Amino acid sequence: MSKLPLWSLRLLVGCGLAIGQSCQSPAVKQGSSAHETPLLHSARHYAQEKVPGIYLEDQGFNHQVVLTFDDGPNAYTPQVLDLLKPHQLQAVFFIVGSKLLKSDSQSDGQLDPERVAILRRMVNDGHVLGNHSFNHPNLSALNYLNQPAQIGLEFERTQKIVNQALGYDYPLYYIRPPFGQRGVRHVHSSADGSLRPGLVDQWLKQQQKYLILWNASSGDWHHQQPLWQMEKSVMDSLRSHQGGVILMHDIQPRTPQLLQNLLLRLKKEPQFKLTNLESLLKQKYQIKALDAP
Ligand SMILES: [Zn+2]
Repeated sequence: MSKLPLWSLRLLVGCGLAIGQSCQSPAVKQGSSAHETPLLHSARHYAQEKVPGIYLEDQGFNHQVVLTFDDGPNAYTPQVLDLLKPHQLQAVFFIVGSKLLKSDSQSDGQLDPERVAILRRMVNDGHVLGNHSFNHPNLSALNYLNQPAQIGLEFERTQKIVNQALGYDYPLYYIRPPFGQRGVRHVHSSADGSLRPGLVDQWLKQQQKYLILWNASSGDWHHQQPLWQMEKSVMDSLRSHQGGVILMHDIQPRTPQLLQNLLLRLKKEPQFKLTNLESLLKQKYQIKALDAP
């Protein structure tokens, strides 16, 4: 037990419902702390340990599968929500903050009521919101340019506008950098010669966030790629990784169809179980061990 990261305790207080049951969102009403359980990475681990979360190379999820959608809310998001509804699935929607604003340049930062309604529906339908930055920049570039404040601002602005749109504090624990890029190879040498993680990972640790990448990409942004190929790509990845996180985009017109097809395919392969991200993280970090006396 002592070897388990103590930050994992926070995972235990979240959704513990069985697959198929709807899980309450992690929204915290105003007055509660967004970070009640600290991320307890020690200084000794800081240089070596990865930010907790899901990585591209991850495998061994006991065939549990989680659906994630990036870049919304968007006009196609309601179709995705409609498809998820009868399955009582809890997906994660990684929000781009600027999508919640009116696109009209004269709007002066006003919220777009239609997008706000979609965001609220995501939460009301039992899904989880994640943070996908405000303007969707490549954060590797900001890392190389040594712009830590800009990196933080990208996520903080989205947190702020999500709270504003929902009307209460909803801490966005799950972070997905745009394009999955965080400039991690660009490490900074400190005075004592040790290596430190890139600026994005530093921010994630300081803010006690989870880095949520994927290990089954649909490639749904490739407009020339046929649907069957996207489905094959996802299913091949899930088989070789024994489950994991599927990456899709609710701004892509064919994604609702892709989702429908994938749900059918997953049904035909009963070893796969659709679940929520919290369960997947528990599986990865073997949180069950903490339940033992
Ligand atoms: Zn994106």
